[in-house]
Amino acid sequence: MQKNTNKYLFSLIFSLGCLIIFFTFHIGQNILYEFSSSYNGLLFFLFAILFTFSIDNIRINYRSFNLVSTIIPAIVIILGYGPYTAGTLIAFISLFRININHSKNRGMYVVKALSRSAIYFLMYTLPADLMYLDFPLYFRLLLYLISVLVINQIIMLLYFKVFYNNSWSGLFNNMKVFLIELFPGILLLPLSQAIYDLQLVGYDKIFTLYYLFPVVSIILLLFTIIMKNADREKEESLKLRHFKQALKGILSGLNLVRSTEDFNIILQKSTKLLAEMLGYREALVSVINRNEQIVSRIGYYGIKKEEFDDLASKTVTVDSVNALFRPEFKFSGTYFVPAESKMYEKLNLGDAVYNEGDKIFKNKWHPDDLFLVPFLDSENELIGYIALDCPLNGQRPTEEDAEIARIFAEQIGRMVETSFKYKKVLETTKIDQMTKLNNHTTFYEKADELIKKSSFEHPLSLIMMDIDDFKTFNDQYGHLMGDQALKNVAKAIKETIPVDAIAARYGGEEFAVLLTGTDKLKAVEISNKIIQKVAKTDVEGLHVTISCGVATCPEDGRHSSTLVSSADSALYISKKTGKNKVTMV
Ligand code: GH3
Ligand code: MG
Ligand code: MG
Repeated sequence: MQKNTNKYLFSLIFSLGCLIIFFTFHIGQNILYEFSSSYNGLLFFLFAILFTFSIDNIRINYRSFNLVSTIIPAIVIILGYGPYTAGTLIAFISLFRININHSKNRGMYVVKALSRSAIYFLMYTLPADLMYLDFPLYFRLLLYLISVLVINQIIMLLYFKVFYNNSWSGLFNNMKVFLIELFPGILLLPLSQAIYDLQLVGYDKIFTLYYLFPVVSIILLLFTIIMKNADREKEESLKLRHFKQALKGILSGLNLVRSTEDFNIILQKSTKLLAEMLGYREALVSVINRNEQIVSRIGYYGIKKEEFDDLASKTVTVDSVNALFRPEFKFSGTYFVPAESKMYEKLNLGDAVYNEGDKIFKNKWHPDDLFLVPFLDSENELIGYIALDCPLNGQRPTEEDAEIARIFAEQIGRMVETSFKYKKVLETTKIDQMTKLNNHTTFYEKADELIKKSSFEHPLSLIMMDIDDFKTFNDQYGHLMGDQALKNVAKAIKETIPVDAIAARYGGEEFAVLLTGTDKLKAVEISNKIIQKVAKTDVEGLHVTISCGVATCPEDGRHSSTLVSSADSALYISKKTGKNKVTMV
């Protein structure tokens, strides 16, 4: 509200200022004088009005420029009549500009029209006397146009401050706008001088040459349109080339994913490619951890490691992320969450900087904006996303950007999915599904590995275990009950052994435990603990017992097969001598 009051005040002061100037400096009289000393008739006047109106409604849009330049019609009116007529006429005509966003607020519409008109009036009228100096027309016109544009720049600074709250676009940018506006003026100066001179020597019909000026306007306009298209095409083809290359990289990467490390490297590379291709300085990759209902940060680009670690340490729940992937933020297969939605604040990622009522000027990127590229699995479930930040061009994403990001993310999504699947498959081949202990293959892998590292100073002990009279148990209570007993025994073993020990299901109802840095007596002690624990373990009201055999590396065998067979013979003795006990080699 405060800001709107400023806008009303601004337009009021400006309009009043113009009226005061109009009357104090007898601008009306000056206009009459200009009219009376002109050769031109009604037809020319109508032409001037029509030309000014057309130009006032044509926006020059090129790169970051977006301007309306009335310089050419101004020159025409100055040559036909004079600068006072030019200023007043252009100001008046601009009140009827139709090429604007019709804001819902009618009051604001009038305020903007009045301010615009006042700006035109002031910039063309204030330096008007320069045109009456005793210099050649060429110099007078140049001096006048430069002054007009300088005044324009000064007033526009104020105007942008009040209306868009963006104070200054920088000296370099302002200079560029200045020169672009001055360019047609400089282009037309020689022609203007020639027409003027010919008029002086009596060619009074020469003013028909003024009709050439719109042609120049049209040529300039076409020129900017062609430049814009050429630029866009160049940009598109460059983007497409990058895109193809990147896609090829990812596709070849997909076939290479065989381990978590491969996956991380490829993910990191793909993120970098995506960020570079779309022109973003920073990117963050997250995957959804459905089991724990949290979001894990797994990759980054353009962010310092410490900053990433800091982000990764913050807990973000799946619920808060789900709130971002809502239909209203959907944007060509990606999600764009604007600062205005104030979602950033809710994510608790850092300080939000968006203030209520902040206007986003011309699709400019806001620090609180979120551009999220989701990856979905084959069932269209969200499994993760890349968040892109800090666009190089300072603009919010275009639909083309979003489209490219979507196609890219599809490939990454497939990779993430296959990699998760792969991890699961790997796990199932290494682990016994019933007891969740290591399986026979893994047991031998680990045994070989640990035997290599063992020595007399650092012995490795092996406990082989076998459930007692399990056949009978199965026969009496059924195989399902037998399975439950196996699971309970496995649990009892896991709970008793040290954390760095390795437990495995060796075979049917046989288990093995590898104990690093453990001598024989210590292993016997652990075996007794297991035996007691198993004996106490309840299997739906029933109990089983186990027998153990202990062997130690290097003394009882320097190879996995000899070590196992030593422990087996000790186990055999336990069985022969009463079961539910431990024997060592
Ligand atoms: P001992 O005390 O001498 O070891 O007698 P035992 O009956 O346990 O003899 P043995 O070790 O030869 O018996 C193995 C039995 O274990 C055979 C089978 O019925 C049972 N078994 C093996 N694997 C499974 C399994 O996965 N589930 C169930 N329920 N029983 C199993
Ligand atoms: Mg057995
Ligand atoms: Mg048995």
